[in-house]
Amino acid sequence: MQVLVCGGTGCTSSASHQLREALRREIKARGLSSRVRVFKTGCFGFCKLGPLVVVYPGQILYCRVGVPDVREMVERHFAGGKVVERLLYREPATGEKKLRLHDVHFFQAQQRVALRHCGLINPEDVTEYIACGGYFALADVLLHQTPAQVIETVKKSGLRGRGGGGFPTGKKWEMAAAAPGAEKYVVCNADEGDPGAFMDRSILEGDPHSVLEAMAIAGYAIGAAEGYIYVRAEYPIAVERLERAIRQAREQGLLGRRLFNTGFDFDIDLRLGAGAFVCGEETALLRSATGQRGEPRPRPPYPAQCGLWGKPTLLNNVETYANVPAIISRGADWFASMGTENSKGTKVFSLAGKIMNTGLIEVPMGTTLRTIVFNIGGGIPHGRKFKAVQTGGPSGGCIPEAGLDTPVDYDSLRRIGSMMGSGGLIVMDESDCMVDIAKFYLQFSQDESCGQCTPCRVGVKRMTEILERITEGKGEMSDLDELADLAREVKDASLCGLGQTAPNPVLSTLQYFRDEYEAHIRDKR
Ligand code: SF4
Repeated sequence: MQVLVCGGTGCTSSASHQLREALRREIKARGLSSRVRVFKTGCFGFCKLGPLVVVYPGQILYCRVGVPDVREMVERHFAGGKVVERLLYREPATGEKKLRLHDVHFFQAQQRVALRHCGLINPEDVTEYIACGGYFALADVLLHQTPAQVIETVKKSGLRGRGGGGFPTGKKWEMAAAAPGAEKYVVCNADEGDPGAFMDRSILEGDPHSVLEAMAIAGYAIGAAEGYIYVRAEYPIAVERLERAIRQAREQGLLGRRLFNTGFDFDIDLRLGAGAFVCGEETALLRSATGQRGEPRPRPPYPAQCGLWGKPTLLNNVETYANVPAIISRGADWFASMGTENSKGTKVFSLAGKIMNTGLIEVPMGTTLRTIVFNIGGGIPHGRKFKAVQTGGPSGGCIPEAGLDTPVDYDSLRRIGSMMGSGGLIVMDESDCMVDIAKFYLQFSQDESCGQCTPCRVGVKRMTEILERITEGKGEMSDLDELADLAREVKDASLCGLGQTAPNPVLSTLQYFRDEYEAHIRDKR
């Protein structure tokens, strides 16, 4: 019998470490160690109900398990073969108890590619990754494919950057490969900073080797021998697992010199970010990674031509890389068969805010927001009404109920004034004031602006001041026009993506919830 205990940040903060130890002690005390083994995994995704435990065989899902439950679990289930009913998941809509993980509605509508190993393998043991086919894609490309073939596969898959921009990944690889220069670099952007977003953190915590393997494949494709992962220092579990994964991969000959006895060398190092949101912008990240102040610079030249230390650099985010070994192993056509015409594959989202099932999900591109919020997410708690869903973090927009049937893909979200962003999805209910929400995001952007260019530094501050006036009951109707004008100017004139997208929450709430702005002004509240 195998007992998997979630070791993601959410469950760890709910004492899953102590739970694991208590389970091991109790199993040993009852003489069951030879047939019951306890493992640490990455995040299962159902963060709201942690700590989570899944028992095989049977894939029995136990929720909110604590140390006090250990004795009963071991005695009744592991020794007696009977399920502990009271720890099973109950569907909120029907009250029906669910026995197996895949019987639970939350998991049924999902399709896992980037998260394929999260919650299934021990991320601290490279042999478990290898046992699931890990590093086979790297071996395949090194032994049987040319770099051009690898790039062609990534292009054909239709994979687009999952960090927010949605740039075609294969095209980026092609540009980096074509850039002149003997010295090139592969970089992973793990500087996830959107409020409420934890997709990349969970992938790194649950399946770090998928990112390492993808970076080595990318290195082979573009002709680079070194890679760097720029990861937030505030992600201590992810950092620790990455360090361990790099160490184990080197010991196994999966990173380092002459991989798979070919002439290809590739190694990876970490760079820790200090938590500046702007360092998620690629040019700021590359500067910060080389010890300079993390400030964006104008493009071109693009990182593919002039990146780390002025050399051609391929930069993708964690989720983008996590898809690559699966694409190589299962083929471009398989990946392209999921999603929509222009947005292929799946997308990972973190569900947060006023939603029943907070957690981490992965769905095919094109899934509607309604399915995500009401089917997978379980709807709005406390019988309240849905008001809006924010996609794209501080760069995105607030989508009202009328937009719930929008398919989630790069183009559709942009058409309704929002964007995919990296995958943070925050739900608001009828008790939320949309002007306050817009003010929150704008204040966030103002705090995180590097201050380098005037439209962002001054424009976002002026917009925040207007919102403060309005929410303090001191606003005038003319403020709304000024707000919209300023928003357009900041979008058009700012240097980098932070400033160019900072007004989006204001513009979308002005578009869809103007009555709330007017009510503040009219009622002086
Ligand atoms: Fe810095 Fe804002 Fe200008 Fe970007 S837009 S460079 S964050 S001041």
